[in-house]
Amino acid sequence: MAKGKAKTVYEYDDDHYLIEFRDDITAFDSVKHDIVGGKGYYNCQISAKLFEILEENGIKTHFVKLLEPNKMLVKKVEIIPLEVIVRNIATGSIVRNYPFKEGMVFERPIVMLDYKDDAYHDPLMNDDMILAMGLVNEEELKQIKEIALKVNDVLKGYFESIGILLPDFKIEIGKDKEGNLLVADEISPDSCRLWDAKTKKSLDKDNYRFDKGDVLAGYKEVYRRMFG
Ligand code: 5GP
Repeated sequence: MAKGKAKTVYEYDDDHYLIEFRDDITAFDSVKHDIVGGKGYYNCQISAKLFEILEENGIKTHFVKLLEPNKMLVKKVEIIPLEVIVRNIATGSIVRNYPFKEGMVFERPIVMLDYKDDAYHDPLMNDDMILAMGLVNEEELKQIKEIALKVNDVLKGYFESIGILLPDFKIEIGKDKEGNLLVADEISPDSCRLWDAKTKKSLDKDNYRFDKGDVLAGYKEVYRRMFG
């Protein structure tokens, strides 16, 4: 059993884990932590559906099926400790750390790979650093970037069809026993920026991070548009 900040991962059998989505919400390396009743359910349901949509579009993921409303069965993978971030619109840390104007729409998406380690505050890596640390090999690095862009195309198109913009998101990639790279972890309003296309209002974790509004109401709205 491994308890993360918002999810708990249980051994299920030789080839599978069970992931429980909890109601915990954290930000800024857990400096902020609260419980939001119902969040685990919404994130699990939203994640499951997004994994299914990726699979339908030929992208391999760790998702197998939902076992309970807030628990999913997934294939066992070894998570590569990189946060694979794709950006379509400038907001968040890219605006704080680089001279991009809030709201700038990127002509081509920007892929950024952060080292997943709270102790170092998830620093941005370049290819040479990733290879020097032996996190992946060159071929895997190329594949990770290709997966990131394909996931972006699929998710961006899907969210646009339900009136939601996808300024950016983070995915994690895992490696199975055979060495295949699968999209793993979760894809939810915890890990994606999702804006109402008309009002540009956040429907994601930024409402919690920056006290911008009712975080659960945003997640419920995303769920409502996805499930009708
Ligand atoms: P930023 O670097 O602007 O803070 O985040 C870019 C995107 O990656 C956002 O969609 C954000 O939700 C996601 N992201 C970055 N780091 C983390 C993280 O540590 N946890 C989660 N859940 N999402 C992250």
